[in-house]
Amino acid sequence: MKVLLVYPEFPDTFWSFKHALRFLGKRSAFPPLGLLTVAAMLPESWEKRLVDVNVRPLRDSDLDWADVVFLSGMLVQAPSMQELIARAKAHGKRTVVGGPIVSSQDASVAGAHHRVEGEAEEILPELIRDLERGEARPFYKRDMLPDPKTSPPPLLALAEMNRYSSMAVQFSRGCPFTCEFCDIIEIYGRKPRSKTPGQILAEFDQLHRLGWRGRVFLVDDNFIGNKKSVKALLPSMAEWMRAHRSPFSFITEASLNLAEDDELMSGMRKAGFTSVFLGIETPVAECLKETTKFQNLRHDLLTSVRRIHAHGIEVMGGFIVGFDHDPPDVFDRQIQFIREAAIPLSMVGLLTALPNTQLWRRLKAEGRLLKQSIGNNTLADLNFIPRMDSQKLLEGYRRILQTVYSPREYFERASAFMAQLGSSARTPLVFADLLAAVRSLCRQGLQSNYRTEYWKFLLRAARQHRARWGMVFTLAIMGHHCFELAQAQENS
Ligand code: SF4
Repeated sequence: MKVLLVYPEFPDTFWSFKHALRFLGKRSAFPPLGLLTVAAMLPESWEKRLVDVNVRPLRDSDLDWADVVFLSGMLVQAPSMQELIARAKAHGKRTVVGGPIVSSQDASVAGAHHRVEGEAEEILPELIRDLERGEARPFYKRDMLPDPKTSPPPLLALAEMNRYSSMAVQFSRGCPFTCEFCDIIEIYGRKPRSKTPGQILAEFDQLHRLGWRGRVFLVDDNFIGNKKSVKALLPSMAEWMRAHRSPFSFITEASLNLAEDDELMSGMRKAGFTSVFLGIETPVAECLKETTKFQNLRHDLLTSVRRIHAHGIEVMGGFIVGFDHDPPDVFDRQIQFIREAAIPLSMVGLLTALPNTQLWRRLKAEGRLLKQSIGNNTLADLNFIPRMDSQKLLEGYRRILQTVYSPREYFERASAFMAQLGSSARTPLVFADLLAAVRSLCRQGLQSNYRTEYWKFLLRAARQHRARWGMVFTLAIMGHHCFELAQAQENS
């Protein structure tokens, strides 16, 4: 059997890092970890190829080669998914689609011959058997959540690794919290399930053996969902890094209760974590209560962010407007919080009701749902009737973006952030980053319309952060990505 694994296109969002990738000479931020893991579970005798259309287009010759086309993706990839399924079918190929988009019951996957809902470990053996017999069913589903300890390392050899700016590794699935808008807990459950340290180190070994050096994203929904298992992992990660001369730096996603645990923060720093994405959502306590994000109410939010920064770990923050309890001044309060917290990369989105979440069910019961979410939390994605006047909400949302991503505000915030970092956070410019730094100097320093603010930022860095030139250029380049995104929202 010849299996073509196809990953649909990501639109231009915060997580695509599209405008930053140009500086790095890369095509995409992360390889499709889910598909690569599925590939590792398919029979060895099956031939496999991967086409990530974020890296290169799907060619007719790819489809000609295949017996069956496996696709996987998230809701935000729906338009590309639909197109790819139609194209494969037009070529007379059998299509199998999986991933979170199937759990979202999105119309884009309805045309596939076989839909797979749930995690691959439980379902694949049956699907493989049925495909081999030529009697695969249209729909496969398992409600049981598998133990990732049975999951093999992804088949990375299928990916063109040098086209990506980061590699991806998953340690755990699921999250113990109850945020009303979250689909993770609906799909992956509230009991975090993790791999063993041995599995993770084996994945690092594979990356290292294949020549990868640089960023590795631990793509867990909440890396610290089970603190005990993370604390068991971190020392072996630190040891592996020491033994291999620190070839990687790690970023991940976690919950804000990270700031309560010094041992955890120090352990992450020692293991090589440089950044963590946290869902802060809002400085308005009533909204946090509304969305049952109680873990963000335990401590002062600003203090929590500063504690993580002081451990040498950059906080990237997720922020949301559109809650029922948003007061009229919520936009100013969000802007003020982001400024005071000094979070350079603040992803501000509109609340959206993802399918089958607690929020979706509540809004449906209240008769306030308008349409299916497209999963990108931007202007086009307001899919319910908000309590605040819609026009005011959209204008306020735009104003937050325009303010926090005005170049002056951004670069001042980036400088303030570096001043908060603990002294252990030394990030010199390494050889691999040199070309990106040169591109930044040319494009941002000479050709951009914000070059004055850019040079002020570099001058401040030259005075105060000479041990952090690697971070300085990363922040500058990421700033460019965010300026472009904010502009796109302004124009939409
Ligand atoms: S902390 Fe994050 S992953 Fe966990 S329930 Fe809340 S939004 Fe979902």
